[in-house]
Amino acid sequence: MMDAKSSQKAFLEQLVAHRLLIPSGVPGLFGRGRLFEEVIERFNRLLTDVAADDGAEVVQFPPLVNRKHYEKSGFLKSFPHLAGSVFSFYGDQGEYMELLSCLEKGEDWSRLQHMTEVMLTAAACYPIYPMASGTLPEGGRLFDVYSYCFRHEPSDDPARMQVFRMREFVHLGTPETSVAFRNRWLERGSDLLKALAVPISADVASDPFFGRGGKMLASNQREQRLKFELRTPITSTEEPTAVMSFNYHQDHFGSLFDIRRASGEIAHTACFGAGMERVALSLFKTHGFVPAAWPASVRTKLCL
Ligand code: AMP
Ligand code: ZN
Repeated sequence: MMDAKSSQKAFLEQLVAHRLLIPSGVPGLFGRGRLFEEVIERFNRLLTDVAADDGAEVVQFPPLVNRKHYEKSGFLKSFPHLAGSVFSFYGDQGEYMELLSCLEKGEDWSRLQHMTEVMLTAAACYPIYPMASGTLPEGGRLFDVYSYCFRHEPSDDPARMQVFRMREFVHLGTPETSVAFRNRWLERGSDLLKALAVPISADVASDPFFGRGGKMLASNQREQRLKFELRTPITSTEEPTAVMSFNYHQDHFGSLFDIRRASGEIAHTACFGAGMERVALSLFKTHGFVPAAWPASVRTKLCL
């Protein structure tokens, strides 16, 4: 039996050999080959089909967010180790000369960089909450978002990238409609992965909150059953990888961004997120590196 490290390495080597992923020299940062992209595109279309009658509003955001909104969202407080901020050069001619000298000598030039107004988004749904500030219509709102996301978690596991895509549906409404939305997607997500013959297990989950207090937050999140994940073995059977997440945030974002229900109460929110690269990797892991040789039922479902 291969240990997790060797199995990650072997899987990555195969993905690269089949031109599915293109290494950059930095762990977790890859280019994507045509077939890898095609699988993601086809799966993305399946999600659109599943949600076709929901009437979600499609919005598209770049993978950067307003730093003020990011700070307010609580992400830095909970996950400082994953956050990515954008810095740039604000210097004069003197500092420019210093920068050139650092580059020439191969020295650290980070002191010549200062914070900008933007951060790299950590989840596709983050720009939604500040945008939805105000009063929701009767019945709440539903959004459909798709974005590259950044998390600083360099790893040799091809399923743990620093830059990856998330397709999300986000509901804003009451506690009841949020939980119902979350549960509906849990069922839809399972059905979809089962139809693609990807072995899955569903479980209560928690987010990787930082530090001593973080353990408490994570166990509260589990106890309250706020987060569920669908997992599949990609590079380990003992520790399967989460391919989809189903989150009920209670009034966290509603109160931070003053999102109110038509009744005036603070809104509750929930999101469903599919990790697109992980879905593709689970398909390559389960069915092999050549989509043309995948089972007919899977190819038909994906229209491949
Ligand atoms: P989360 O907000 O952590 O629940 O992430 C939402 C989804 O994004 C997860 O279910 C994964 O499928 C995917 N995801 C999270 N982190 C990574 C990562 N480092 N690399 C690739 N996909 C990820
Ligand atoms: Zn989300």
